[in-house]
Amino acid sequence: MKILRVALDVPLDTLFDYSAGNAGEVGIGDRVLVSFGRRKMVGVVAGIADHSTLAPERIKPVIQVFRDAPPLSDEILQLLQFCADYYHHPLGEVILNALPVPLRQTKPVAPAKAAGYRLTEAGLAIEADSLPSRAIVKRKLLNSLKQAGTLARSDIAELSPSAPQALKEFLALGWAEESDEIPDAPQPAQTAAGSPPLPTLTPDQEQAVNAVLAKLEQFQVWLLHGITGSGKTEVYLRIIAQVLQRGGQALVLVPEINLTPQLESRFRARFPNTVMVSLHSRLAAGERLRNWSLAQSGRAGIVLGTRLSLFTPLPKLMLIVADEEHDSSFKQQDGLRYSARDMAIARGKQAGVPVVLGSATPALESWHNASTGRYQMLELPARAVAEAALPTIRCHDITRANLVDGLSEPLIAALRVRLERGEQSLVFINRRGFAPVMRCGQCGWISTCHRCSSRLVVHLREKRLRCHHCGHESRMPHTCPDCGNADLAPIGLGTQRIEETLTGLFPAARILRVDRDSAKRKHALPEMLDRIHAEEVDIIIGTQLMAKGHDFKKLTLVGVVNADGALYSADFRASERLFAQLMQVAGRAGRDALPGEVLIQTQFPTHPLFQSLMRHDYNGFAASLLTERKQAEFPPFCHQVLLRAEAAQMETALAFLRKAKAVAPTRFDVTLFDPVPAQMARLAGNERAHLLVQAASRGALQAFVADWNKALTGLDSRVRWALDVDPQEF
Ligand code: ADP
Ligand code: ZN
Ligand code: ZN
Repeated sequence: MKILRVALDVPLDTLFDYSAGNAGEVGIGDRVLVSFGRRKMVGVVAGIADHSTLAPERIKPVIQVFRDAPPLSDEILQLLQFCADYYHHPLGEVILNALPVPLRQTKPVAPAKAAGYRLTEAGLAIEADSLPSRAIVKRKLLNSLKQAGTLARSDIAELSPSAPQALKEFLALGWAEESDEIPDAPQPAQTAAGSPPLPTLTPDQEQAVNAVLAKLEQFQVWLLHGITGSGKTEVYLRIIAQVLQRGGQALVLVPEINLTPQLESRFRARFPNTVMVSLHSRLAAGERLRNWSLAQSGRAGIVLGTRLSLFTPLPKLMLIVADEEHDSSFKQQDGLRYSARDMAIARGKQAGVPVVLGSATPALESWHNASTGRYQMLELPARAVAEAALPTIRCHDITRANLVDGLSEPLIAALRVRLERGEQSLVFINRRGFAPVMRCGQCGWISTCHRCSSRLVVHLREKRLRCHHCGHESRMPHTCPDCGNADLAPIGLGTQRIEETLTGLFPAARILRVDRDSAKRKHALPEMLDRIHAEEVDIIIGTQLMAKGHDFKKLTLVGVVNADGALYSADFRASERLFAQLMQVAGRAGRDALPGEVLIQTQFPTHPLFQSLMRHDYNGFAASLLTERKQAEFPPFCHQVLLRAEAAQMETALAFLRKAKAVAPTRFDVTLFDPVPAQMARLAGNERAHLLVQAASRGALQAFVADWNKALTGLDSRVRWALDVDPQEF
């Protein structure tokens, strides 16, 4: 009898045996419906065997084989298997979680109803010129619909972030209607003038492009180290053009959803006749399935997405790009704790295709791999636009300075100059809310979260205290909960406070705060970005949401208000991250002909990090960090696995970890440290602790963990635990 070995989404590291019954032909990669206990579950056939260790009468037939979508390819199953092995995570969970949600459900998916839109007679009669000249998006939407006939919902969203809103208005006005005739390939509107001419590559870009193209049909990791604005994206575009020409598919990974729309429109403008799909968690389930299917069938030439898109089946894969490869968002922090960048390399190796990692501030691991020759380095040391010089970076010592609500005199003066010149400024502060904490002047009480080891942030306008870790909220107290004193004060700086201060200082300025609070509403962020591009904003107050990727031509000043916290953090990666972040924000200034200036307020202006930053010297900074890491035997000079434990009581978690240490196999050359509480010891009501394992050899560490993992199962049912391979957070 043929035995189907089925992967199911259960936290058990095993496959389950079923027979084909009378379901017809079943092969590896097929989705099947099976009964599991009392439930019906969807599984994926991950193997086929001749016999089972189960008694024949206990082997149930599968209920149904789904024929609604093609089976998963061997290639993708192998990648998922590798991922499950590497992260010591149950294969069934890995496979099922890689599928779009509709394919995980117990019903076959309905053939996708193509949801598109077209103009009505009334809409066709409207001339774009008759719309107000400020209604740029509406004009664009109208013209695009006229040209394409029907546009898919996703293609409309790609026209402009606010296009879906414009569509809603069109529908309400009776100008547009739903339509089922989705064009095969999205055909975005071409400007009357045709596509713009390609820029002539700089010699550095040319060299990078040629190097990759010369080895397009083999596995090689390229580290494209290019300063902000050096034209990395242009390099990707040129390589992708070749991939498309040869009929291949390119997978482009970006760390953040917020970065997809602008990159997408740039790619779409370059390849108007290519089917390009995006994949990220904000897409509706149906749309994600549609995009996934376009990739799986080989129709989509470009797949652009966040880390989850890594597992998309791509039969003609010819190139993988990971942009901003150093970004910690590539690492998933729960469930399968995988790094999409690292798995991209595994995938490239498996498929025999190049992997291009791009960054202005590569992760030290990648940098190290490039220095030792495992990766090939490609350098873009200058900005691509000839007139765009790098911004000058200055530090201002605020140890003894008179600050106006956290803002120094030189920063205020610099802001004033920009206002007078009609240029834009960005004030960067990575703390949303009004102030990081509320304090009682009498007894020293401070607002803390009762569910986490963290402070409650003051949100003055809403008169609420909020925990940014677990979401807990409470009303702002009028008097101190401990001593009854009414003298409570917000301490420290947040975006809202800076906004208030700046509004007071510059009443005529148009000030916009961009943080997770102001960007909460759907489309709020793209709309805010549109406003900045349209130069309707003078001063932007922004968190890290504003630090990445954006290209504002009129932005000439970046002020960094308070970044010192990370300088002396316990996390060994804190300074690497701070440097990357500051390089990135600094990179927002002076991207065009206008020279940029960056002003950093700090109490430690002589700190080596700032010294390197002022010289734009990533290489020097990386070298000094690597020396430190080597001395301390930290990654990349060792490999790490963290055993994380969570329980109602800290002692329970620690006791589990002590037991875990006691049962650890001893025949491997690995070092086990003592269990310690996590940096964030309490989170959302759970006590958290961990145990770090380190080894010089990855192979030894992997073999150790594989053994250890078995010994951990069933050790203590009160504890939730997980293995985190290559941990990024402690
Ligand atoms: P990065 O991705 O490295 O930040 P981009 O690819 O976004 O850089 O390029 C920065 C700016 O320079 C963009 O406005 C881009 O259009 C422009 N650019 C890139 N390459 C060239 C080139 N060879 N000639 C002229 N302009 C270029
Ligand atoms: Zn008090
Ligand atoms: Zn909390």
